Amino acid sequence: MKLVSFSLDGAPRVGVLAEGNVVDLASLLREAGEGLSVVSILSAGEPLLERIREAALSLSDRLQDAGLRAKRVVYPLADVKLMAPVPRPGKIICLGLNYSDHAEEAGMSPPEEPVLFSKPATAVVGHDDPVIYPKVSSQLDYEVELAVVVGKRGKDIPEEDAYDYVAGYTVFNDISARDIQFRGIQWFRGKSFDTFAPMGPCLTLKDEIPDPHNLKIQMRVNGELRQNSSTRNMIFKIPYLISFISAGMTLEPGDVIATGTPSGVGIYSKPQPKLLKPGDVMEASIEKIGTLRNRVVIP
Ligand code: MG
Repeated sequence: MKLVSFSLDGAPRVGVLAEGNVVDLASLLREAGEGLSVVSILSAGEPLLERIREAALSLSDRLQDAGLRAKRVVYPLADVKLMAPVPRPGKIICLGLNYSDHAEEAGMSPPEEPVLFSKPATAVVGHDDPVIYPKVSSQLDYEVELAVVVGKRGKDIPEEDAYDYVAGYTVFNDISARDIQFRGIQWFRGKSFDTFAPMGPCLTLKDEIPDPHNLKIQMRVNGELRQNSSTRNMIFKIPYLISFISAGMTLEPGDVIATGTPSGVGIYSKPQPKLLKPGDVMEASIEKIGTLRNRVVIP
C-alpha cells in the first residue's frame, strides 16, 4: 500500500495512492478529522493500517466511478497537490558516504562506521515543489537516496528486530550546497537550507518492499541519467543503521533516515562538475516507490 499526504483547497489530507487515483482517508475513517496525518496513522499501528488496506481494497474496482469522485472519496492524482509523505518529520537523519562508489568518487575511504548528519524539518518539500537556489551558494547539487520512514517508537533496537520499526520507504533528494558543505568542518549548514529535503511522491509501506536492498535507484537532470545504481550497493544496510542510530536515541513514527547516495553526483562529474542551475528539473526515482520531481528556482 502507498500512502500520500496531499493538500486540497489548501487543507492537508492523507490518502491511499491507487492506480493514478488518491483515496481520501477522511472519507473512510471514523476517527478522521482534525489531526489525521501519516504520522497519526503510523502511530496507531498495524490494526489501523489493516483497516485502511481493507477499505481501500473494497474501492479498488470502483476508482473510476463518477459517483465516488462526486462524493469526494476519490480524486484523480492530477487534481491534488502532493506534499512530502511526512511534511514535518520529528527527525531527519542522513547518512554520508554510504555507497562505496560514491565514497570512491569523493576520494574518501569507505567509512568504518556510519557517518551521520541531520537536516531540519523546515527543509522538507514535496513532489513538484520548487527547490530554492540560496543566495549564499553557487554550487548546488543533487543526491538521490532511499529514505526509511520509521513506523514505531523505539530505542536500542537490535538489528534482528529493525524492520519491526520500519513503516516503509520514500524517495529523498539530499540537496547540497557544496561550497558551504566543504567550507567548514560540518555538513549541517550546507545541507539544511529551505527546500533542501525534497521527499516523495508517496510512502510505500514495507508490505510492498520486502527487500529494500534490491531496488533500482536513479537520478535524472533535465532527462539526462546522472545516477544509476541499486540499493544493494549500500555499505551499511538498514537493519544495522537502525540499530546504530537507535543506540541511545529514540526513534519515533515519522522520523526519516536517508540512507546515502550512489555515485554520479554533480560535483564529482568528469571531466567537469555538472552542478545544478536555475530551471533544472531533477527526477529522483526508486523502483516500487516512484519518481520525485523538483525544479531548481531562484526566488
Ligand atoms: Mg546524501
